[in-house]
This record gives sequence, structure tokens and C-alpha cells, in this order.
Amino acid sequence: MDSDMERRYIHCDADKCTGCRICELVCSASKEGRFHQELSRIRVAQPTPTIVTSIACRFCENAPCIAGCPKDALSMSGETNTLKLDKARCTGCGWCIEACDFGAIMLDRSTKSVVMCDLCLSLPEPRCVEICPKKALSLSTSEAVAQKARDRVATTSKKCIV
Ligand code: SF4
Ligand code: SF4
Repeated sequence: MDSDMERRYIHCDADKCTGCRICELVCSASKEGRFHQELSRIRVAQPTPTIVTSIACRFCENAPCIAGCPKDALSMSGETNTLKLDKARCTGCGWCIEACDFGAIMLDRSTKSVVMCDLCLSLPEPRCVEICPKKALSLSTSEAVAQKARDRVATTSKKCIV
């Protein structure tokens, strides 16, 4: 794995997402061997009545979940820029869940430990990205997502002027 790897995360194009929740099912099946949306590392959310989108961990710089953990169970891998959990330390107290603005950490009640996206690093691409029937998911970076938004605004502005 390239140590200079950019900080990537699973981005959802809300224009394409229909909220079908197939990503949640395939994630839990892939990670836990069962269809259980509570254990999915990606979550479908509806931030406004007209927008539906999927959200997974953003692997934040200075991640609040890491700072919030009283057991020092979370850390960011310098090699892969993904969040790592030391299961032996985690007590399932849920402080990290509270600290995350994205709702990207889930509690596994059976193990009293937490789970979060790991980008399926052992696979050619994340299972949710592969399986989304609308091709709404992609592995992206903050800069790439911001550039897409800028391009979109520029295109819309041109259409308005013409
Ligand atoms: S779990 Fe939440 S706070 Fe922690 S790195 Fe991921 S998105 Fe950021
Ligand atoms: S649930 Fe685990 S990882 Fe999260 S704050 Fe508690 S001990 Fe830390």
C-alpha cells in the first residue's frame, strides 16, 4: 500500500442515489456474513425531504472519534489513511459514535464493540461501490468531490447566462 496515498472515502452522488439500501445489505453481508443493516459500515440518510444519500466514514484529519475515545481504541493508519480499531481496548461505550458528525460508526451489540468502514482494502474495490445498481458510489477524495461541485456550479451558471 502506498504510504503517500490520498485520503479517500466512499462518496455518494445524491443525484443518482435512490435510497434502495442495497449498499447497506451488501456491506453487512460482506463484513458480517448476514444481511443486517445495523451492522453496515455505510448508511443511507435523508438529510432533507428531497435528498437521499449514503454516508460512510470520511477518515477525518484530527478525527473527533479518535479524540473522543476514552480507551485510546481508535487510531488513523498512516499507511492507508483508514480508521483502525483495537478491539481489545474497545468497551462499546459509544463515545466515538457521539463524536462523529457523519453517523459513520455503528455499535455491534453482540460483541459490544464498534464497526466502521475500512474501504474493503483487501478487495479490488469496496463491495458497495461495486454493487450499487445506480453507480452512485465511488472511491473519491475531498478535492475531487469539491472539484465536481465547482464544475457543476460553473455549468449551471453558463446555462443561466445563455
Ligand atoms: S468515524 Fe466519523 S469522526 Fe471518525 S473519522 Fe470517520 S467520519 Fe470522521
Ligand atoms: S466504543 Fe470503543 S472505540 Fe468507541 S469510544 Fe468507546 S471504547 Fe472507544
